[in-house]
Amino acid sequence: EKSLVEADPELASAIGDELKRQQEKIELIASENIVSKAVLDAQGSVLTNKYAEGYPGRRYYGGCEYVDVAEELAIKRACELFGATFANVQPHSGAQANQSVFMALLQPGDTFLGLDLSCGGHLTHGSPANQSGKWFKPLGYKVRRQDHRIDMDEVEALAKEHKPKIIIAGGSAYPRIPDFARFRAIADEVGAYFMVDMAHFAGLVAGGVHPNPLDFAHVVTTTTHKTLRGPRGGMVLSRDEALGKKINSAVFPGLQGGPLMHVIAAKAVAFGEALKPEFKIYAKAVVENAKVLAETLHAGGLDIVSGGTDTHLMLVDLRPKGTNGRAAEKALDRAYITCNKNSIPFDTEKYTITSGIRLGTPAGTTRGFGAVEFKEIGNLIIEVVDALGKKGDEGDAEVEAKVRARVRELCSRFPIYA
Ligand code: PLP
Repeated sequence: EKSLVEADPELASAIGDELKRQQEKIELIASENIVSKAVLDAQGSVLTNKYAEGYPGRRYYGGCEYVDVAEELAIKRACELFGATFANVQPHSGAQANQSVFMALLQPGDTFLGLDLSCGGHLTHGSPANQSGKWFKPLGYKVRRQDHRIDMDEVEALAKEHKPKIIIAGGSAYPRIPDFARFRAIADEVGAYFMVDMAHFAGLVAGGVHPNPLDFAHVVTTTTHKTLRGPRGGMVLSRDEALGKKINSAVFPGLQGGPLMHVIAAKAVAFGEALKPEFKIYAKAVVENAKVLAETLHAGGLDIVSGGTDTHLMLVDLRPKGTNGRAAEKALDRAYITCNKNSIPFDTEKYTITSGIRLGTPAGTTRGFGAVEFKEIGNLIIEVVDALGKKGDEGDAEVEAKVRARVRELCSRFPIYA
């Protein structure tokens, strides 16, 4: 049999280039990580050949005895990791995990309440462009102007006035720990389900450095590929078996057909890794590194939304430097630092430009960067955005070349997939 390089050199070359990009550039996209070779091996396995509609022991196809082992391991480990009694590990993505909760608990036209997209919420929590916003009636709560923390009084007022069926906490660009207890109290008061989308911080929960939303929520959704450091995918967890039954029916046959058994196997591997003591060290370092990066950027003259971070991510307000998110994303990319532009709360720039960038420490921490390296990374970012402020969106090629050389050196000392 031919190898990929022999069979499809064009495609193999794109994969080779992507590997080099990951090796040579600093990854600060908060939702990304670097999985282990074991996770890659499981995902690249023969399990991709197998149809397994249904659930372990209750399949619609023969020959499922070995993929059942994989899915049972994934479920058992997920429950152990998060203190759940129910886990559905089949959602192909975080978006589908969320959809399955809506399908299980809402009727079209029903009202739900989530964090507004402009304040760090996710597309699937009611954006008008997403099914959640088209088929249901979303209400958005915001953060407070003065401190960028979730306005719990507004959550309570909206909940009492509109009686949503679900209240959602969690988002994609909220750097603080939500007040899960108060969310649950509000949900109980108005008879709503409380759902937490922990996609971003699941790895911090697994590593014991973030409160566990399972202690408060009726249902918890997540992706498996962000801080949790598994393959791309989704999952739904609960401590309520009756609710779990509804979720199972919503995932299959409600939304999906055959589960991706190779991805489920890779989820099992990642959950196994997250159960090991080393993962606690990683999670603690992710949060410590984020604090160091935020403090360095602040000392360098940038504003940090909400004044800092409790998690793996931060939103950087670039306005003090007279530049914007689009220009900074591009300039940093030229300097081999990868991140994404991001609206900040109450942003007056268009979403295609934005006043901010979102930065996260999971991928860098996985490759071994510690406080010293994140301090250096913070200073490199300051050099690049300072040049933008002085020279405009084109930036300063000389500064960017110097930063690029230092990034190369840093990455070569912390190799990945060597
Ligand atoms: N929920 C949150 C909070 C997210 O940040 C994301 C991903 O960006 C998702 C859900 C969706 O996950 P996926 O991209 O796997 O569909």
